Amino acid sequence: MRVLVVEDEPDLQAQVVRALQEAGYSVDAASDGEEGQFLGDTEPYDAVVLDLGLPKVDGITVLNHWRNNDRNMPVLILTARETWNEKVSGFDAGADDYLTKPFHMEELLARVRAIIRRSAGHASPMLECGPVTLDTRTGKVMINTAAVTLTAHELKVLSYFMHHQGRVVSQTELIEHIYDQDFDRDSNTIEVFIARLRKKLLPELIKTHRGRGYSMSCEDQDT
Ligand code: CA
Repeated sequence: MRVLVVEDEPDLQAQVVRALQEAGYSVDAASDGEEGQFLGDTEPYDAVVLDLGLPKVDGITVLNHWRNNDRNMPVLILTARETWNEKVSGFDAGADDYLTKPFHMEELLARVRAIIRRSAGHASPMLECGPVTLDTRTGKVMINTAAVTLTAHELKVLSYFMHHQGRVVSQTELIEHIYDQDFDRDSNTIEVFIARLRKKLLPELIKTHRGRGYSMSCEDQDT
């Protein structure tokens, strides 16, 4: 899962980016509204954390621009104060949730998890596929009652499939959602990650659709 952070306060931006990375997300950051808007226009994000008070272009204008251009990724806005009118403007512009500064990082992480899973159509934080479960709160993966240890990249790949079950995901889509923009992307590694997930979880968990991509179909997984 890939997240964009648009925040102009350097310390806060660094803290949010680090917390999201430690929680297993690939993260891009922008320090003003212009750069943030551009990234949101051109890169596919699973969620955006958007400050409202930004240099160059303010957050509400950025959000309005995205929604008018069918950029539908879930957006969590950060507001400086308990001002009800900023929140109303934010929701009217198409925000999915808000957080008032100062906030606890755990709350930001919980809200980001929630908007990502809701936008993918999941109400519960526990994602299931046959005997495989992923707790999105902890990143813990189980097969039946046994815990499975995955590397950070394997977990990113599994999490993307668990959020988008039953749909064919192309290799390009997968790469765009598991790596941040500065990462040296190598499509060969995707096949390696998928082979390892099949080995560690279930051989038939992820299907290959030749020339189209991969899918995780969970109806077939009942043991
Ligand atoms: Ca600000």
